[in-house]
Amino acid sequence: MKIDDIRKVCVVGAGNMGHQISILAAIRGYRVSCVDVNEKQLQKARGFAEKYLPGRVAKKKLTEDQARQAWDNLEFNTDLKKAAGDADFVIEAATENLELKRKIFEKLDQVAPPHAVLATNSSFIVSSMVADVTSRPGKVCNMHFFNPALVMKCVEVVKGPHTSEETAALAMELARSLNKEPVELQKEIYGFLVNRILSAINNEALYLLDQGVASAQDIDSAVVNALGHPMGPFKLQDLTGIDLTYHVMMERYRETGDPADKPSPTVVEKYVKKEWGQKTGKGFYDYGK
Ligand code: NAD
Repeated sequence: MKIDDIRKVCVVGAGNMGHQISILAAIRGYRVSCVDVNEKQLQKARGFAEKYLPGRVAKKKLTEDQARQAWDNLEFNTDLKKAAGDADFVIEAATENLELKRKIFEKLDQVAPPHAVLATNSSFIVSSMVADVTSRPGKVCNMHFFNPALVMKCVEVVKGPHTSEETAALAMELARSLNKEPVELQKEIYGFLVNRILSAINNEALYLLDQGVASAQDIDSAVVNALGHPMGPFKLQDLTGIDLTYHVMMERYRETGDPADKPSPTVVEKYVKKEWGQKTGKGFYDYGK
């Protein structure tokens, strides 16, 4: 299959990632079916698109015709068979849970046309953990967008040992046609590129804090003003949630047993005290009530 043969994209999951990937693909000219088991989530996604597209027209980023065409390209539904039955490329962006994803891939393999590529947007689950439930492992890969998917330019395309060259190349081309700057990983590795680099920075920042070398504010300031990052590691963790940092690290520690993967004492303390960042009003910074 060539890039021009991709007419319809099916996005599984209409949550944080799925609804934005769907709108993005619709704007770039693909017919899109966004499917979710949760009707409320679909309504929310539809409502977002309804506001977002005219907003882009107001900001002169889209013409009225382009916005109308994108809206016409979009369809939201709860029926996976209908959504994926005539899709050329499927991007799975459902809840991060291996068993759930394995069930979805098994079903997708039954309902999607044999030529369709099945990609997962998972942040941590490599596609070899789902490819084995399909009859088309060569057409399975990771395609990892970043949040918010309508804005962030990077997409990590990860080639598993089962993924064909053709599939990886097609995923790269699709990402480019969505106006992204994709990067290709030649092999699977936990956390891919970006989350590995981010976690190395976070771990070092936490080490420096735990050792009493500098305050969270000063470490953030150094990272912003010397390294040119838009946000320091502590501000970022407050935004994404310290509970998430804790759970991701604990999950990894359970898998590897490596003490280096354990959450730092500060993260554990903040987790226990429910100082999870902006969502609870306090994290490394105080956000008041
Ligand atoms: P989310 O919780 O916002 O959305 C997940 C959606 O999947 C929900 O709407 C849920 O109803 C739906 N879902 C559950 N089971 C389903 C099924 N069987 N069929 C169809 N839909 C189903 O999650 P999210 O943040 O959008 O993350 C989705 C995926 O994207 C995860 O694998 C995550 O690792 C990955 N990801 C997340 C981010 C992020 O910053 N949130 C960034 C990159 C990648």
